[in-house]
Amino acid sequence: MTDGRALAKQYLEQQWVLGGDQVILPTSEPTPGLRPGLVNPPTEAVSLTPGASPGTTDTLPPSGLSFDPPSGDLFAADPVQQTRTLAEIATLVAECTKCKLCENRSHTVPGEGPGDARLVVVGEGPGRTEDETGRPFVGKAGELLTKILEAIDFPREQVFICNVVKCRPPENRLPQYDEIAACVPYLYRQIELLKPAVILAMGGTAAQTLLNTKQSLGALRNQLHRFRGIPVVVTYHPAALLRNPNWKRPTWDDVRIARRILDN
Ligand code: SF4
Repeated sequence: MTDGRALAKQYLEQQWVLGGDQVILPTSEPTPGLRPGLVNPPTEAVSLTPGASPGTTDTLPPSGLSFDPPSGDLFAADPVQQTRTLAEIATLVAECTKCKLCENRSHTVPGEGPGDARLVVVGEGPGRTEDETGRPFVGKAGELLTKILEAIDFPREQVFICNVVKCRPPENRLPQYDEIAACVPYLYRQIELLKPAVILAMGGTAAQTLLNTKQSLGALRNQLHRFRGIPVVVTYHPAALLRNPNWKRPTWDDVRIARRILDN
């Protein structure tokens, strides 16, 4: 495929992710290693989707919340703290009965991805397909997440993807406080072992849990938060994007912020 055809293909993929109907043409050379026109906002856009704001991701957003829960005592009896690998955490999750979500699950969904992932995506909880397969973010929302990650040149295989709770809440309801409290030590330990460069919190539950706040997702976007010092970018959950395509554009802005942090 010629460079021009490859570029056009990438633009069309971008538009698919954005849900827009116009093509953005860059007039500047892209940064080496990044997809032209995807990560770098065009310096002079030939045509922009209405409402788009070129250059808004040139600078990182202002600092937001910082949550630094104490790490567990490695010498404590808590088996979660004694785990040394993601696989060991998954084994504990598979046997877990610490909350009532264990009662109706088909499979636990501990999360998946490489142990050296620089990007960690955190969602809310498994849905029906995830419960059936034991894998996070599959089905239509998962396909959209894969497209979003591809658009910032981050193949899904390089990302660790997980949820706040590891078992499916009935009828896909929101996880309840006691369920989150019971399950979150697994997430904390996963992040502790992974030591990612960026966490992408997708949806209000993930953002509120990682930042220990009740603020709305809307209030938490457009700030650079921190969890134990690790930058946290807050954005919409892919399932919400399927219901409201108007949120694709702000989501695109958010994931580009995550990409910029990863590139620094
Ligand atoms: S949701 Fe978490 S705490 Fe509850 S049973 Fe499943 S793994 Fe255990």
